[in-house]
Amino acid sequence: MRYSDTVMNHFMNPRNIGQLPDADGVGIIGSKECGDQIRVWIKVRHEKLEHVSHEVFGCPAAIAACSMMTELATELTLEKALALSDDDVAKALGGLPEAKYHCSNLAASALHKAVENYRTGKSKNANVVKITTLVNNTMPRPLRSEHGLAFWIEYAGRNILFDTGQTDALMYNADLLDIDLSKTDIIILSHGHYDHTGGFKAVLDAAPNAVVYLHPDAPKVRYSHPLGKPAKNVSMPSDACEKIAELVPKGNVFYTAKPTTISANLLVTGTIPRITEYEDTGGPFYLDKQRQQEDPLADDQALLLETAKGLVVILGCAHAGLINTLEYAGEITGKPIHAVIGGMHLRAASDKRMEKTIETLNKYNCEILAPCHCSGDLAVKLLQQKYPNRFLDIRNHLKITL
Ligand SMILES: [Zn+2]
Ligand SMILES: [Zn+2]
Ligand SMILES: [Zn+2]
Repeated sequence: MRYSDTVMNHFMNPRNIGQLPDADGVGIIGSKECGDQIRVWIKVRHEKLEHVSHEVFGCPAAIAACSMMTELATELTLEKALALSDDDVAKALGGLPEAKYHCSNLAASALHKAVENYRTGKSKNANVVKITTLVNNTMPRPLRSEHGLAFWIEYAGRNILFDTGQTDALMYNADLLDIDLSKTDIIILSHGHYDHTGGFKAVLDAAPNAVVYLHPDAPKVRYSHPLGKPAKNVSMPSDACEKIAELVPKGNVFYTAKPTTISANLLVTGTIPRITEYEDTGGPFYLDKQRQQEDPLADDQALLLETAKGLVVILGCAHAGLINTLEYAGEITGKPIHAVIGGMHLRAASDKRMEKTIETLNKYNCEILAPCHCSGDLAVKLLQQKYPNRFLDIRNHLKITL
């Protein structure tokens, strides 16, 4: 039996050996025929394999195949990693002896297992979600309060920033709360309004490689224009729009008109269908200063985290309506709802909308209701009264672990 020079090189000096301490996925595969055992660890960043490592108990062919596989797989997207075959690895090694071909050449198969394991969230503690409120209308002192919203979410090894507040309160509060925004992996915008996008540029300056998810309508120019009052521009600030335009060529911007999976157990809804007759966009919103064209706020979307306990629904402003949002979350995931956290936009709700919303919430039987931002004092009070065991006051629980 003869091995190629490449096989001998990788056998004598195997690359990327040993367990990765904080691996996102692990794949284990054994061959009954010859007793080889292969373990592969992967570290994923922005849906690419940042590191791939291995340990092999087996023959030179198995060791060389794993070593070669780690070289071929590093920097691949998850899709490409899944397309990498055992044959590709054998080819890159200059071929393997026939006798060794099937039993030892399992490196790519072990890699596929690691990717699957990552996607199902089995290797991390997929149940744990840590949410920190960074910006809200009411924050305990000495943190700054403003009309705006931002949540820092730690989930499955990712740092996710959901919305960015209205001003530099985001950076100020993050600093006081010891949250390093330069470590942001993913930014998700619930919609384009200024109170959710004001800190966007500052975060991107601190974390230039973060990937961004937003609805294509989010950067639209729009106004809030109550009858008898002057129109107020409530669009995304121009520095945020410029930043997005800058990021597009880097491939770091993802538009989410439809439900979009970000990574394992993490998705955004995209436009939420309006099905209830009692929910409206909750304000005098227009696309022009003349009150001619209503703003449908199609960009309003929620973030959904699929945990073992059920869905965690993170709301920005819920312009689509709280019940519309929860209905759609259930429809696209088929999962029960465990927690609802964020702006519920009931501040200016009609009596009918308020009553129906509070009543209908009962049917989801979720364990946590944590209203904040634009939910409104009355809605908060009614939720607390009707659901005392589910109500969570975000002012006293800046950090929630689910
Ligand atoms: Zn809004
Ligand atoms: Zn709102
Ligand atoms: Zn808002």
